Amino acid sequence: MTRILKLDVGGRPIAWISREGGALLYCREQIAWEAGREDVVLRGGYSRRTGLRSVLRVNSIVATTAVDKAADGWAGTPALTNPRLFRRDDYMCLYCGEVLPTELLTRDHVVPVSAGGLDEWESVVTACRPCNQRKDNHALAAIGMRLLAVPYAPNRAEGLILENRLILADQMEFLRTRVGSGSRLRVPGADGVACAANINGTD
Ligand SMILES: [Zn+2]
Repeated sequence: MTRILKLDVGGRPIAWISREGGALLYCREQIAWEAGREDVVLRGGYSRRTGLRSVLRVNSIVATTAVDKAADGWAGTPALTNPRLFRRDDYMCLYCGEVLPTELLTRDHVVPVSAGGLDEWESVVTACRPCNQRKDNHALAAIGMRLLAVPYAPNRAEGLILENRLILADQMEFLRTRVGSGSRLRVPGADGVACAANINGTD
């Protein structure tokens, strides 16, 4: 299902909202400006008077004057979850490099929790089960293992990329320019599969 990228008035990405949620912002006249190249078309009921069906266009990227109390601010790092972690690391075990389906991946603490390692973005990586078990509670250097990439905390823009698997091309372009400098998503084409440019075939 195509979702609408909601920005605050300053152009900072806040959240994905449903098409209906986007339509509501238009009805309440809370749209400040539009930034997308695509329109999502919502079809409503038929008018008893004219017999015509109502149509509402919702832009794929909208900046709203509505204040979102639930949003934790621009600087907010998305909450650490396994699905987001696995997407950050492109479903790759950061020890052996194997790309695996979600059910075969685990969250590994680079510094074991028992040794004071923290459960936060900069301290955890995606690992396959064999690597996770091999590493166990050892320090990496002690058993000759090393990381293929450095773990980092995604910013809000990257968090939005990580949580939506059907992102329109213009939405992806918008978000990609706003991810942090250390993000692996800055590599061109790194997430080509996640970028669904086709809006015509509506979900
Ligand atoms: Zn592995």
